[in-house]
Amino acid sequence: MEISKGVEMLQLDFHGTIIHPILLWDQDMAVLIDTGFPGQIEDLRAAIEKAGVSLDKLKAVILTHQDMDHIGCLPEILKEYGHHIKIYAHESDKPYIQGEIPLLKDGHLENPPKGRVDDTLIDGQELPFCGGIRVIHTPGHTPGHISLYLKQSKTLIAGDSMYSVDGNLGGIHVPTTPDIKEARLSLKKYVDLDIASVVCYHGGLSTENVNDQLLKLSQE
Ligand SMILES: [Zn+2]
Repeated sequence: MEISKGVEMLQLDFHGTIIHPILLWDQDMAVLIDTGFPGQIEDLRAAIEKAGVSLDKLKAVILTHQDMDHIGCLPEILKEYGHHIKIYAHESDKPYIQGEIPLLKDGHLENPPKGRVDDTLIDGQELPFCGGIRVIHTPGHTPGHISLYLKQSKTLIAGDSMYSVDGNLGGIHVPTTPDIKEARLSLKKYVDLDIASVVCYHGGLSTENVNDQLLKLSQE
C-alpha cells in the first residue's frame, strides 16, 4: 500500500502473521525499514518489485530492533546486496543483531538470523534519505528500539513500540515488552511530532486522529 509518494507499506504473511516492513525511495535510492521473518526473502523481494522498485536501488536497511521478525532476512540481503548497502540500527541492539550475544527474545533459535551493522543511530539524528528521516530512540520493547519519523510525509514508523488493530492504536504490546516503564516513556516522545499517519509493524496503517490517539496513549 502506497502511503505517500515514495513511501510503501509492504505486507508480508508469515503463516498467518501479517507484518509491515516499509520501503522508501526517490530518484537516488531506496531504503528498507525492517526485513521480515527468516525465510521471507522471496516474499520480500516480490513485495518490493510489486511496488515498482528494483532491489538494485537499495542503499540502506534500517532495523528498528533486534527481534527475529525484523532482522530475519538480513543475512540474505547482505549476501546478495551487502557490497553496496549500509545497515543501520541503534547501538544498544547492535551486538545482538551481529550475533555477538544471543537475541534477547529469540535466543533459543537454533540458527538465529544475524548480520553486520555498519552505522549506529542515536536519538534525534536525521538521515538525509528520501526527504529526511528522524530517528527516535524508543526503548522498552528492546533496549535499542528505534522509531522513525518521515519528515516529508509526516509518517511515524512505530516499529513495535505500539501495535494497532483496524487503524486504532493499541499502545504497548505488553506480552512482548520486557520494560513497560521505559516503553511508556518512549510513547511520550511522539506527542511533539506533527503526525499524519502511523505504521505499526503489527497492525499496519492508522490515519484517523492519530495525534489525539497518541496523546491519549502517552497519558496512560
Ligand atoms: Zn519486536
